[in-house]
Parts: sequence; structure tokens; C-alpha cells
Amino acid sequence: MAKREIAWDLSEMFPSTTDPSVQKAIDDLTELTEKFAARYRGKIKDLSAKELLECIRGYEEYLTRLDRLLNFAWLSFTANMTLPDTQSLRDRVDKMRAELEKMLAFFNIELGYMIYGNPGIVNEEVLRNYQHFLERFLKKVPHQLSESEEKLIIEKDQFGINAWKDLRRVWLNTRTFEVEVKGEKQTVPFGEAYGFTYGPDRSARISGTKSIGSVLAKDGEIFSSALRNICNDWVSVCNRRKYDSLMEASLIDNDVDQQVIDNLLKAIENNTGLFQRYLRLKAKIMNLPKLSGWHDILAPLPDAPDTKFDYEKAKALVIEAYEQFDEDYAFAVKDMFSRNHMDATPRQGKREGAFFSNWYEGKSGYILLSFNETLGDVYGLAHELGHATHAYYYSRGQTILNGPFSLSMAVAETASTFGELLLTDLLLNRSQSDQEKKAIICSDLDGASINASCAFRLRFEQTL
Ligand SMILES: [Zn+2]
Repeated sequence: MAKREIAWDLSEMFPSTTDPSVQKAIDDLTELTEKFAARYRGKIKDLSAKELLECIRGYEEYLTRLDRLLNFAWLSFTANMTLPDTQSLRDRVDKMRAELEKMLAFFNIELGYMIYGNPGIVNEEVLRNYQHFLERFLKKVPHQLSESEEKLIIEKDQFGINAWKDLRRVWLNTRTFEVEVKGEKQTVPFGEAYGFTYGPDRSARISGTKSIGSVLAKDGEIFSSALRNICNDWVSVCNRRKYDSLMEASLIDNDVDQQVIDNLLKAIENNTGLFQRYLRLKAKIMNLPKLSGWHDILAPLPDAPDTKFDYEKAKALVIEAYEQFDEDYAFAVKDMFSRNHMDATPRQGKREGAFFSNWYEGKSGYILLSFNETLGDVYGLAHELGHATHAYYYSRGQTILNGPFSLSMAVAETASTFGELLLTDLLLNRSQSDQEKKAIICSDLDGASINASCAFRLRFEQTL
């Protein structure tokens, strides 16, 4: 019997990609933006604190409506990039976004000038709810360019870096990969091929890793040329904006100091030996002379009692994991499942990896992942549901600028990692044997490999 496809239902946002209500929302938003620009362009510097509050709220109305359209277009596209309707909608919404951003380029610049010239306004009682947003905003002001330069950058990015990102996604997710599983060749999309690389069958893990590697290597020159140009583009924009370092923009966006990153890197590098010791131990448990690549590092232990988790079993497990911590805390998790906001089945043309996308107006969001029935996938589910839980609360407790539009990755990943730990707690409590406990602890410790990959990426960024 064919498996039930787990695909999300986006109809809470719009009935379909071709429904006339989508174009109406684009037209209405364009009109609202034009009105906002006509009311505030050239006038922000003279606003009182109370008038500034009204202006910020007007801007938030624009963001809220934009968020619905962006989410709908992005999610429709990521679920299947091969459909002409999803491609054309994404194109239309991208163009609209760039036009509206250019129309509103004055907002950031004028707001910047205003609070730079009068920093005391940030402490006005009437603006209290936006104090942190404005303080962070102030840090970006010295790096702003003129309005026409900002507009040029929006245009350049639309057909530059944003187009590169789409090209990479479409390229990767429309390839097919040949993987040998139990002596049989299977031709599968990326999401499924990748699933084999951390599944329980070692020869399928090796075959999946080789297959992905060889498909990527065929176009290695194209990717290295693209990467060089993307990096150079970033370097030239950072220089033009006069950032002290190439990381400064990301640090401001994520509300993190350089010192935190330095300490993090130090902690990772000081403990390299500990992680190596763990990997040697894991090789011994797996009866291997050494772990010969990611296909071994991320492998579940061979004697783990439970290696296959169908979607329903995984769903019950993660709900229980969150409920075990707190009945109310599990509400967002159950809400995500009952509103059918999950897209879990791997398919050709679907975006790789996993993400949670917040939909502010819906006080919810959507999760995309390629669920391949391994323990790692159950952890992936618990992780993304941590983001959903976080979003459930900030969508209700914060305005859109203070919530999703100010979200630091450092904060966001705390909620998701916490979700993973809830799952570990549940699995350990339920485990019947030392073998089972070992398998659960190892799958958690394997996650430390992300630290190593973060350190590589950080070092790479520092060498640009
Ligand atoms: Zn995450």
C-alpha cells in the first residue's frame, strides 16, 4: 500500500496559488504601501514620539500583510519547485517585494537619521514597547547608504544573491540520485537520498553519500565559481557599508557580540579532543577501525533496538515529549499537527533540509522536512516543533517588529534545541536496556558535530 503523503495545507492563507485573492492581496498591499510612503516620506524627522509610534505601527501593518504573501509564495515554491504555478507566483511576489522595498527605502534611512540625531527619543515612555528594536536599529545607522544606493542594492540582490540562492535550490532538488539499498538500485530525489546517509543500513549510508557527492562534484567548477562571486559580492557590500568586519552585520542582526562568538569558538576548539575521544569510542561500539566519514559519524548505533519510526509513531512521540514537560507547552505542537501545517514527505522538486517558517498573522507557522523514518528525523521533528512553540508564544506576546522581524538565531535555536532535549528525556525514561540508552545518548552526542561544522564555517568566513 502506498504511504499517505504528509503535505501541508496552505489554504488558511490563500485557497490556491492561482486564486484571484492572491492578486487582490498584492494590489491591496501595493496601495497600502503607496499611502504609507505618501504620508511619511521626507517627514519622519519632524515626527513627535507619539507620531513615530503611529508610523511604526503603520509599518507593522505593511509587514504583516507582506508576511502572508511571502510565506504563501515561499512555502508553495519550496514544497514543489517544478510546478509552473508555484514558480510564477514566487516570481510575482519577489518582484512585488523588491518594488515595495524600494518604495520604502526612505523609512530605514529617515528613521535612522532621526534617532541618530535624537537618541533620547528611544527612551520616551510612549515608545517603550519598541525601545529594544530602536536601540538595535541605531547600531545599523552608521552603515546605511543613500536612498538611491539602497534601492540599487535591492535591485542588485534581487537578480544577484537571491537568484543564486534559488538556482542552487532548484538545481539540487530537481536532480535524481542513484542509491543502492540491500543490493537494489533506487533512483530517488535529494530528500530521500540524504535520508539514507544517516539511516541504519551502513552500505546504504555509504552509497547515498557517494551518490550525492558524485552528482555535486560533476558541477564542482560551477559551484566554486558561484561561491567565489557570492563571497566577493558580500565583501564589497560590507566595505561600502563600512563594517569593521564581515561578520558585523550578522552580529547586529542576531543581537550577539563578537566576544560571544569568540568564546564559542574557543570552547569548541578547546574541546576538540573530547569530541575526538567520543568518535573513537563510537567507532569501537560500531566495530569499525575508525569512522570513515559523515555516513559513520551521524550513524545510529547498529544495535539500537528501535531504528524505524513511521510518521504517526514519531508524531505521538514528540507530542508526548512536550507533554511530559508541560501540558500547556505541548499545545503549539498539537496545534501544528491538527492544523495540518507539516510537509514531511520527500518528493522531487521539494527544498532540501528542514525549516520552520513563522506566519505571524496566523499565530502559527509551517514546518518543512524530509521525513525518512529514522531516529534523526524524529529529532528533526522535535527541533522544528521547538521553533513552532517559540513562535506560538512570540506571535501572541510581541508585535511583528519585536517578534519575528527581530528574531535572533541565537534565541531561536535555544527553543529548538530544548525541544530535542525533551525528546531525549522521554526516550531515556522509556528505555529498557543499556543498549537502548547508549543509542539515544549517542544520537544526542552526534549532534555535537554541528559545532565542528559551525567552527569550519566561521573560520572560512574569517578568511574572506
Ligand atoms: Zn533550528
